[in-house]
Amino acid sequence: MQDSYDVVIVGGAVIGSAVAYFLTANPDFNGSVLVVERDPSYVKASTSLSSSSIRTQFSNPINVKISQYGSEFIRNFADVMQVAGEDRPDLNFHPGGYLFLANTAEGEQTLRENHAVQRACGADVVLWDQDELARAFPHLRTDDIRIASYGQSGEGWFNNTGLMYGFKAKARAQGAEYVTDEVVAIGRDGAQVTSVTLKSGAVIQAGTVVNASGPRAALTARMAGLDVPVEPRKRTLFVFDCAKTPEGSAQVNQGRLPLMIDPTGVFCRPEGRFFLTGCPPVEDPAADWDDFEPRYEEFEEIIWPALAERSEAFEAIKVVNQWAGHYDFNTLDHNLIVGRHPEVTNFVYANGYSGHGLQQGPAAGRAVSELIIYGQFRTLDLSEVGYERIVQNRPFLEKAVI
Ligand SMILES: Cc1cc2nc3c(=O)[nH]c(=O)nc-3n(C[C@H](O)[C@H](O)[C@H](O)COP(=O)(O)OP(=O)(O)OC[C@H]3O[C@@H](n4cnc5c(N)ncnc54)[C@H](O)[C@@H]3O)c2cc1C
Repeated sequence: MQDSYDVVIVGGAVIGSAVAYFLTANPDFNGSVLVVERDPSYVKASTSLSSSSIRTQFSNPINVKISQYGSEFIRNFADVMQVAGEDRPDLNFHPGGYLFLANTAEGEQTLRENHAVQRACGADVVLWDQDELARAFPHLRTDDIRIASYGQSGEGWFNNTGLMYGFKAKARAQGAEYVTDEVVAIGRDGAQVTSVTLKSGAVIQAGTVVNASGPRAALTARMAGLDVPVEPRKRTLFVFDCAKTPEGSAQVNQGRLPLMIDPTGVFCRPEGRFFLTGCPPVEDPAADWDDFEPRYEEFEEIIWPALAERSEAFEAIKVVNQWAGHYDFNTLDHNLIVGRHPEVTNFVYANGYSGHGLQQGPAAGRAVSELIIYGQFRTLDLSEVGYERIVQNRPFLEKAVI
């Protein structure tokens, strides 16, 4: 490790590693990159505890385009990220699609409005009435459903840690350095950050500091005397076995079942021969940094009743595993914050993904690299999700938050 780097990235999970990859992949960048990661086992990183799904069904064109790029990147990942002499990093993308269900007039209007935005962006999403839905997925109870929105391609789920480790391996092969340590202080001289201090005692001079510290983003910003409205919010996922699996009853997408979002907010998707499920929490306080205790009661009280109501097949199900992870939750508007601090311009945020950071990793990593190399976005303009809106208390509008 040197004592000075052009770019120091705080956090080396999916976002930090995506930034390191895109910087070092760009022929216009010839600087040095250090990624500091406090826990290279990643056992508590949001990246490892994620449900690892990607959708284009958002209400804001920027989010649709971010995921369209993510989807293309994930599909081509093995070819682009192959490191000589290593296994192909195939992410095992399952293009199952998302299926949103609406049972109220308001819900129907939202799905129709979102659909118009998605189609204008070229997303492969269709709206179905009750009969079409019943034909496509005969195991679902549809009599209360007014409309369904289904992603025919470009949506599904994939290997979450594969995405992170693929970025990391390629970034290292391209010259990025990783160190196992914790950033405990950030030096600042007026409108510039100047260095990071590591727990081991090392002080590293930094040309630019990137905040990629996930749910701990606010702790990192505070070290530089700055702020970001991100806090850890607990989400519990359950894996269940199903005695009478509906798999195979699907009439679309080569018989695959989708990631269904019930009108109750409960979601459910296949996970190998099992199913993965979760629900929005009833109460959602900031979690303690080290509290990863699952909210076991959510399955009995919220998830199972909703699933059993939606499909006879889900009446007899049994939990086989569960875990809790932390959303990197943006309390202003539940959306990513990607951009420089307006005054301390060599401090770059890549935070606040609030449940979308895996699928947004490729676009966010590329965007941060462009800001650092060119001083502006070159491909997808992410100015609308920059830090300025935080200062101005101007929420970015996205209706399709899960
Ligand atoms: C239950 C759950 C389900 C989810 N489902 C989806 C989904 O279906 N689709 C989707 O796209 N997204 C989903 N997400 C969100 C997604 O997983 C996250 O947004 C994304 O992983 C964030 O990546 P990150 O690299 O910013 O944060 P993390 O993965 O948390 O990584 C941050 C890293 O920074 C390190 N770090 C922190 N502070 C320091 C420091 N001071 N010094 C050194 N290192 C530090 C940490 O050790 C950690 O490894 C889900 C998240 C959860 C919890």
